[in-house]
Amino acid sequence: MDCIFCRIATKKMRVAAVHETERTLVIKDINPQAPVHLLVLSKEHHANLLDCKDTGLLGEMLESVAEAAKKAGIAEKGFRTVINTNDEGGQTVYHLHIHVLAGRPLDNRLG
Ligand code: AMP
Ligand code: ZN
Repeated sequence: MDCIFCRIATKKMRVAAVHETERTLVIKDINPQAPVHLLVLSKEHHANLLDCKDTGLLGEMLESVAEAAKKAGIAEKGFRTVINTNDEGGQTVYHLHIHVLAGRPLDNRLG
């Protein structure tokens, strides 16, 4: 299986990391939808949220969201956290990740 986020998360492909923990890597989105657009990747491959029963990993990913937001200087003003799942959820890369969006006002419609 050739998964782009597996290659990035296992550092087979070099990408500048914003934050890293034992089980997560935070990078910048290649096609940002806001002035700050980060992706929290799990280092292990899970296709998406439906494919991951590991609450320890999911908790660590959310901790990484908070830590990366602080490091990126967006914590105080605020940010949005999004997990797209399957086709109608807008998922395009089938490797578990969390979007972190910030740097402009995000209205409160969700889709
Ligand atoms: P999703 O649509 O939720 O699956 O999100 C996939 C995200 O990954 C999109 O926002 C893409 O812009 C982003 N993306 C795809 N390839 C790369 C890459 N090589 N490096 C960084 N971000 C990427
Ligand atoms: Zn993967």
